Amino acid sequence: MAIQWFPGHMNAAKKKAAEQMADVDVVIEVVDARLPAASCNPLVEELRKFRAKPCLKILNKIDLADPDATAAWVRHFEQDSSVTAYAMTTKKPADVAKVIDKARALAPHRGVATKPLRMMIMGIPNVGKSTLMNALLKRRVAKVGDEPAVTKTQQKIYLDLNTAIIDTPGLLWPKIEMPSDGLALAASHAIGANALIEEEVATWLAEELLRRYPQLVQARYGFKSLDGMDGIAVVEGLAQKRGYRMRGGDWDFEKASHMLLQDYRSGALGRISLETPETRAAALAEYREA
Ligand code: GDP
Repeated sequence: MAIQWFPGHMNAAKKKAAEQMADVDVVIEVVDARLPAASCNPLVEELRKFRAKPCLKILNKIDLADPDATAAWVRHFEQDSSVTAYAMTTKKPADVAKVIDKARALAPHRGVATKPLRMMIMGIPNVGKSTLMNALLKRRVAKVGDEPAVTKTQQKIYLDLNTAIIDTPGLLWPKIEMPSDGLALAASHAIGANALIEEEVATWLAEELLRRYPQLVQARYGFKSLDGMDGIAVVEGLAQKRGYRMRGGDWDFEKASHMLLQDYRSGALGRISLETPETRAAALAEYREA
């Protein structure tokens, strides 16, 4: 497996996250709605429980995710009474507009000028933290918060008189519980993938698509039948359908891999989720048994 994680990052991140969490009332954890468990870092859960902080769990990018799977994840996360799960996309200003009210409801004792509601955004790379932050700042009431309040460890920006947000989202690395998490994250572009592993990631994605959304694969690439096809056959079939050839005349597997990933990431294949609460539980059980 070519995807590696460095424990050094984790230790620094843990220390930082613990410090950051001390002075906030609500943790806004952003995950990718297409893979809400694989794009979590359990550290957020561990630290916020330790500090007794409620969590607004944002399942972002629902424009790309399967609505049924997203609904199942919202129900799953809300089994924890200290969590509000909110499925949204930063692309819709109306969705962004509801974030603060949802956070406020989790900390009803805060949100007055003497005790402003203090929030912090956290999450792994590429889930949309900065986009959300910028969208929230755009909604900021003019003149309030032009002077960021400096505290010992972090800066707060006031969105209005009663509401503040830590100016820099907390960045955590994903915790890869099983190899498919690394592949799902790479497919969803949460982590970079070089050309070599792009082929591995695309082949894995093709297998997942065959299992979960065969009709979308067929519709997008016009395969007559998927009978007997595996991931490699899908990528190769894509190269044939699109006429991607290398100089010698062989099918260009690398280019086809890249295109498949691009079609998934852009939503061109349709709204796709790579895990549901049920399939994740089953995959974890199988992995731990093996
Ligand atoms: P961060 O690393 O968590 O701060 O993520 P960014 O805010 O930089 O976003 C990563 C990528 O996801 C960017 O290309 C964003 O435009 C994109 N993005 C953010 N939110 C959404 C969303 O709701 N839907 C889609 N399709 N893309 C999004």
